[in-house]
Amino acid sequence: MKTELARLALILLLSLSTVPGYPTPAISAKTGPHTLEVIALEARQDLRTLRLNFPLDPLLAEGGKVYFLVERKYLQAIQEFGYSFTLETARFEQTGEKLLRPGTKIQGGLNGAYHSYLELGAELKSLAASYPDLARLYVPGKSLENRNIYALKISDHPGQSEDEPGIALLGGHHAREWISVEVPLLIGRYLLENYEREARVRDIVNSAEIWIVPLVNPDGLEYSILNYRLWRKNRRLNGDGSYGVDLNRNYSYQWAYDDLGSSPVPSSAVFRGAGPLSEPETEAVRNLFQNHRIQSAISYHSFSQLILYPWGYLDQPAEDESLLQSLAEDMAGLISQVNGRVYQTGRASALLYLTNGDFADWAYGFFRTLAFTIELPPVDLLQGGFLNSESDIDLIFRENLPAALYLIERTIASYSGSAARLSPFLRRELEKDDESMVIKRPGAAFRGKESR
Ligand SMILES: [Zn+2]
Repeated sequence: MKTELARLALILLLSLSTVPGYPTPAISAKTGPHTLEVIALEARQDLRTLRLNFPLDPLLAEGGKVYFLVERKYLQAIQEFGYSFTLETARFEQTGEKLLRPGTKIQGGLNGAYHSYLELGAELKSLAASYPDLARLYVPGKSLENRNIYALKISDHPGQSEDEPGIALLGGHHAREWISVEVPLLIGRYLLENYEREARVRDIVNSAEIWIVPLVNPDGLEYSILNYRLWRKNRRLNGDGSYGVDLNRNYSYQWAYDDLGSSPVPSSAVFRGAGPLSEPETEAVRNLFQNHRIQSAISYHSFSQLILYPWGYLDQPAEDESLLQSLAEDMAGLISQVNGRVYQTGRASALLYLTNGDFADWAYGFFRTLAFTIELPPVDLLQGGFLNSESDIDLIFRENLPAALYLIERTIASYSGSAARLSPFLRRELEKDDESMVIKRPGAAFRGKESR
C-alpha cells in the first residue's frame, strides 16, 4: 500500500508534466499552472540568488542535491541565469497508470481515508455532539471562500474558560499535507473516546484546555483534492493573477524579515502575502490565541520527520532554547519508541531552512507559547513525499500520540496561573491588539460556536 501510494505521489508529480525530457521545445498551449517539472541542483553552490528570482518549491535535499518543483516555463531562464540543473521528472515516471486529468472522475475517491473539508466538519460536529461534557466546537474564523476554520475545545466544562493551561494542536496549514489534518484530529478523538477508561487521559482533559484545529487551510485542501494534489497555499487571487498566500509565512512576528525565509513574489510557493496576517485563515488562528492563553502548541506539517522549534527567521537561539530542545528531544524519543522512526530535532532555521512569518515563531514570539513544528513522515520524497498511504494514517497518529500527551502533561505540570508567562512587553502588545479589535472589529473574536 505504501509503495502504491508512493508511486501515486510520483505519478501525480509526473501528471503535471506530459513532456518528459529537457530541453523542451516551444511550450505553446502547455503553460497552465500544472506544467511542472522536478529539477535537481548541486547543493554546494549558493542557491539564494536563484531562489530569490524564481518561484521554486523545495521538495527535498538528497545526495548533495536539492530538488525543486518548478513551472516548466522558467527552465530556460534558470539556465540562462547561469544555473545548471538536471531534469528529474522522468526519474519518477511510471508507465501504464491513469493520470489525473481534467474530467477524470475523482469525487469520493481521491481523498480516500483522508478527510475532506465536509467530512472533517461532520466528524468534529459528531464528536462535539457525542461528548457534550468534554468537547465543544468553535469557529474562530472563516476562510477566504467562506469555509469554517474549526477549533474543537476539549476539556472538562468545555463551555467555560477555566484557569487551566491551553494547548493547541494545529494542522493543515499547507493544502497538500493531508496527513497533518489527520494527526491532530485523531489525537482529539482519542482523548474523547478514552476519557472514561484511561486515568491518564482523564487527568489531562480535566486539567487542561486542548484546542484541536486540524485544518487551517480548508480552501487549499479542497483545491488539492479536486484540482491539483500538490497545491500548498491558500486560494487568494493575487494582484498579478497568480493564486495563493503561504499561510505559514503570513503570521505577524518578523513577517517579511528577509526574502529568504519567505518571498515577496506572489507566484512563489512561499509568498508571504500583502501584509502580516493579511489572510483570514491566519487571522482565525490569531483570534484563538488572543482569546485564550495557549501555553504550548504543535503545528503539524509533512514531510521530513523533524521536530522544529523557534527561531525560524534567523539562526539564533530563542530565550527558552534549552527547554524547547529538551522537550523536542523527549518527544522524538517517545515517537521512536512506537514504530522506530527517527524524527530529528532542532532549531527550525538551522535544521530545515530559514522561514519568516511562520506559526511557531509567531506563537512563541508574541505569546511565549512553547511552539513546535512537527514534520510528519515520510522522511523524503522518494518514500512518498506529501502522499502518505491510507494505512500510514493510523501508524503516524499512533507514533505521535505519546509525544502530544507528554507535551500536554509537561504543560500542565509547569502551569502557574494565567498570564504568568507573558512578559510586560507582550502584555502591552496584547492589550493594544485587544483594544483595536474591540473598536474596529466588533464580534471579531469568536463568531460563536457552531454546535455543541
Ligand atoms: Zn507544511
